Amino acid sequence: MKRGCRHQRFLTYAGGPPPFFEQGGQWSIQGCCGLALVLWLTAGLVFPADGLDQGADGEFEKRTSSHFVLYQDVDIDQTSGLRGSRRFEQDVLSVLESAYRSADQKLGLRPDGPLTVIVYDPAVFDRTFSGQFRFPVAGFYGGRVHIRGDTVVTDRLVAVLHHEYVHAAFDEENGRHVLPAWLNEGVAEWFEARSLGLRGVPSHQRRRLRVAAAQGRLYALDALSSPSFGHLGPEGASLAYLQSWSFIDELVGLRGTRGLRDWLREIVRRGNIDRATRRVYRDRIGALFEDHLAALAAGR
Ligand SMILES: [Zn+2]
Repeated sequence: MKRGCRHQRFLTYAGGPPPFFEQGGQWSIQGCCGLALVLWLTAGLVFPADGLDQGADGEFEKRTSSHFVLYQDVDIDQTSGLRGSRRFEQDVLSVLESAYRSADQKLGLRPDGPLTVIVYDPAVFDRTFSGQFRFPVAGFYGGRVHIRGDTVVTDRLVAVLHHEYVHAAFDEENGRHVLPAWLNEGVAEWFEARSLGLRGVPSHQRRRLRVAAAQGRLYALDALSSPSFGHLGPEGASLAYLQSWSFIDELVGLRGTRGLRDWLREIVRRGNIDRATRRVYRDRIGALFEDHLAALAAGR
């Protein structure tokens, strides 16, 4: 949201670790988004606070909007102008506020907030977090949204912001329940795709699913039901993300976004997926998943 943003120079790295970094604490990663479609991570990572003592320009900028607090330290030399840092921050907050409205409308998620989003200079992000992941990641959520940034708002950045926002919103609204990864990541992938104007899983991705089905490599629901896909290898995780997205897309095909929103609201409120599924989709979640597998195996 461009109007109403507030901007202030927050702190310098030399002044000590920013308050939003846990001091060597144990972080629970509740969702993430891969670079190059592949990611893998382990839960309960330790991020050293002193890993952030050098930045692109040595300072985090802080700007707020109605529902977000943004910190960023990407490598932008000037403050004002079309390619200045102020414009970048306004654009990122505009994307986030748009994600907020869209998630309210499509997913029924409307956390009170404000949510903290940290956009890092890519070199700083890589230096700080690369040792914590087995594959490059574009962002992750662990109590706050962490994004590998860019100096302009690209489609990739829009997608990652939407994806991670879903994890943050679920956690804010549903924190006492642990969601299975197929739901958390499937909805995040679906929402991310919608943010880029994609309706449905693209044909080349569906082809990949059909090939995996023909080879018997698709996952059963139980195998996708842990809190993250961290236990899967890179190929497996990539397929698990795609399969989860495809299943959520299938549910949207059954009852539209209104059904998806009602279903998620019920899950967030009561934490009971089976009950929500029976109420909205008039079936068991396991049966719906089996139908989806059968459709892929039949080449549909
Ligand atoms: Zn994710």
